[in-house]
Amino acid sequence: MAAHKEPVLDIIVVGAGFAGLYLLYRLRTLGFQTLVIEAADGVGGTRYWNRYPGARCDVESMAYSYSFSESLEQDWVWTERYAAQPEILAYANHVTDRFGLRKDIRFNTWVARAVFTETDGLWTLTSDEELSFGARFVIMALGCLSAPHRPDIPGISEFAGECYHTGYWPHQEVDFSGKTVGVIGTGSSAVQAIPLIAEQAAHLSVFQRTPNFSIPAWNGPLDEESQRHWKNNYRTLRAKAKRTSSGILNMDSDHCAAELSPDEQLRELDRRWQHGGLIMWNAFNDIMTDPASNELAASFVRRKIREKVKDRKTADLLCPEDHPLGSKRLCVDTDYYETFNRKNVTLVDIRSHPIEKITAQGVQTSHDSYALDVIVLATGFDAMTGPMMKIDIRGRDGVSIERKWSDGPRTYLGIAIADFPNLFMVTGPGSPSVLSNVLLAIEQHVDWISDCLCHMRSTGFDIIEASPQAEDDWVIHVNDVANPTLYTHSDSWYMGANIPGKPRVFMPYVGGAANYRELCNEVSDQGYTGFTMSKSAATAPRNTVVSANEQQRIDSQTFSQPRRNSTS
Ligand SMILES: Cc1cc2nc3c(=O)[nH]c(=O)nc-3n(C[C@H](O)[C@H](O)[C@H](O)COP(=O)(O)OP(=O)(O)OC[C@H]3O[C@@H](n4cnc5c(N)ncnc54)[C@H](O)[C@@H]3O)c2cc1C
Repeated sequence: MAAHKEPVLDIIVVGAGFAGLYLLYRLRTLGFQTLVIEAADGVGGTRYWNRYPGARCDVESMAYSYSFSESLEQDWVWTERYAAQPEILAYANHVTDRFGLRKDIRFNTWVARAVFTETDGLWTLTSDEELSFGARFVIMALGCLSAPHRPDIPGISEFAGECYHTGYWPHQEVDFSGKTVGVIGTGSSAVQAIPLIAEQAAHLSVFQRTPNFSIPAWNGPLDEESQRHWKNNYRTLRAKAKRTSSGILNMDSDHCAAELSPDEQLRELDRRWQHGGLIMWNAFNDIMTDPASNELAASFVRRKIREKVKDRKTADLLCPEDHPLGSKRLCVDTDYYETFNRKNVTLVDIRSHPIEKITAQGVQTSHDSYALDVIVLATGFDAMTGPMMKIDIRGRDGVSIERKWSDGPRTYLGIAIADFPNLFMVTGPGSPSVLSNVLLAIEQHVDWISDCLCHMRSTGFDIIEASPQAEDDWVIHVNDVANPTLYTHSDSWYMGANIPGKPRVFMPYVGGAANYRELCNEVSDQGYTGFTMSKSAATAPRNTVVSANEQQRIDSQTFSQPRRNSTS
């Protein structure tokens, strides 16, 4: 323990991605003493870690941005329709400096443990270096995709060449020139990285187990007219986006497939293909409930793949046949399929011939050996629950999050967890999160949590907890809306299927972002139904709740002085 002591804070936020940054801005403005703790040495979260070539957003830049500051909206200039990682990271840094957030962020600090103490109603967070931080409330802004998944392939540590994970990419540029490269995985990150790696590498082998549906981005410079349109109409467009099922404009459809003639169906699919990006996800309003409707869109995309890829066998392998379109987040690409027409690119089918081991020289499948200078692991994330489970979180009676979620995540609204008082999550499991424009989802949660904290302050309560009944009901509701859909017909990371041993549970809320927003508002408008609020021992009348000695201990509750680094 360090010699210096400092008082308990109102709120500790873990994570300085877009969620943590907006939380800090909002909570500080509302007068809460807030500290953000971040493992990295900079802000940006996803955009800090995922620096692989080709990394960019799949929601258009103008929409994938904060709406809380009109001057920020007007001042910031996005240069491309889909911004690349350096530009999004620059935006995160701009926001941090513009609103003076950096001084309240403690970088280079991994939160390893978070423990709630019943007697004083406080949380103690401990870093992996045994530094302690105390707060009344903890808000986990850990992101849904911040725990990279490193596959446990035999021999992986024996590889003598360079090995990178897309979600943990080095800060210096990786030069693939003249090298033989293997990319393992063909999800969103791989789809973005492969065309650029192929341009540099002497040879690129793409190890594919499951092909994904990818839609062209038709990315390019953002013309002044569209920028002006957005900037002149930001309020209307944001409000419109909030009324949609995904927070993404131009996505929702008014028609089920059967209402349209075959010509109309084709025109609609073609219109969405020509527009590009995620909107193919919802070409018909029954696309995620009616297998026939889904198959129309899926076979349309497969036809496009076959038009693009010259080698018949490669094209067949690239066509997804084992999951409905949209049951995994669609990939959005620039020249992904075209890359397989290059002479220096080989698609390796590891579904038929699995990787047996990695040797010092490269990858060995059950069929062949591939000598490699570089391996890129594009193997995704332990999504949604992974970042929470990496922290030893203890709620009432020492109950651990690991035990609580052993059969899958249980939350109320994806925001709170019974038995874990005063702990909130942003975009937690059980909320729409990754099924939407995540920035919009983040802003909604941050606003809701901030309003809730203000409500507590004004009513004198300082303990809030989801009731077990509300949590049970929410978990049932989340499953009830997911089960009839095609989302559950897929071995996706939404289902935890990419992580060996992880419970197969559909984690995000498919009931629609707009409906979800209304449900959250109803809960708050009706006085936070499903939550119990109380006063902690520290603030309750002394003679009724705690002994004088205990009160003295609580009053003098102090925590070790956090070690500050140069940026804090
Ligand atoms: C490659 C990639 C591309 C994406 N593109 C899009 C897109 O185009 N559109 C979209 O809507 N969404 C996209 N997403 C989802 C994306 O994660 C969100 O849009 C958004 O950036 C999440 O912000 P966040 O602040 O919630 O979480 P993150 O950005 O993940 O930030 C979480 C932070 O918490 C920190 N942290 C985690 N655990 C700890 C701990 N124990 N101690 C200390 N710090 C910790 C991490 O270091 C990280 O900085 C993408 C995700 C990835 C991985």
